Amino acid sequence: MTAYDDGNIFSKIIKGEIPSEKLYEDANAVAIMDIMPQTRGHCLVIPKAPSRNLLDASDETLSAVMPLVAKLARAAKAAMQADGVRIAQFNEPAAGQTVFHLHFHILPMYEGVELDLHSNRSADKAALAEQAEKIRAALNAG
Ligand code: 5GP
Repeated sequence: MTAYDDGNIFSKIIKGEIPSEKLYEDANAVAIMDIMPQTRGHCLVIPKAPSRNLLDASDETLSAVMPLVAKLARAAKAAMQADGVRIAQFNEPAAGQTVFHLHFHILPMYEGVELDLHSNRSADKAALAEQAEKIRAALNAG
């Protein structure tokens, strides 16, 4: 398997080298809005530990991140008044992975509404900021 390369965009976001619409941060992980959302409220949970994807992640990394995935799923579903929430995670290009630092997609789902295509179009910044505000409020409430 290809080795981890810290030149990826999520490594830069973790290090604060490029901006993101941040929802949450602790010692182990960050949660941010996805800039090319497939659904309203699409966000990402990104462990800080360097791994390319699930296939080379340590048990410690995975154990630490899963409670945060659940926390963001609950908050995004509540904040967006979604009917359900899907979790997605891609490993290697053949599976659809485009950024090679482990991350989990949190995808609020609405009755009768299909997801947009993966990495299709950039979101309106103001809309993302508004959704982020609601998700942060739900995180603080819950
Ligand atoms: P993957 O295909 O690797 O599972 O998904 C990568 C995700 O990262 C895509 O949904 C894409 O929209 C998102 N993404 C790519 N570049 C950036 C960025 O610079 N900032 C943020 N917030 N998301 C990004």
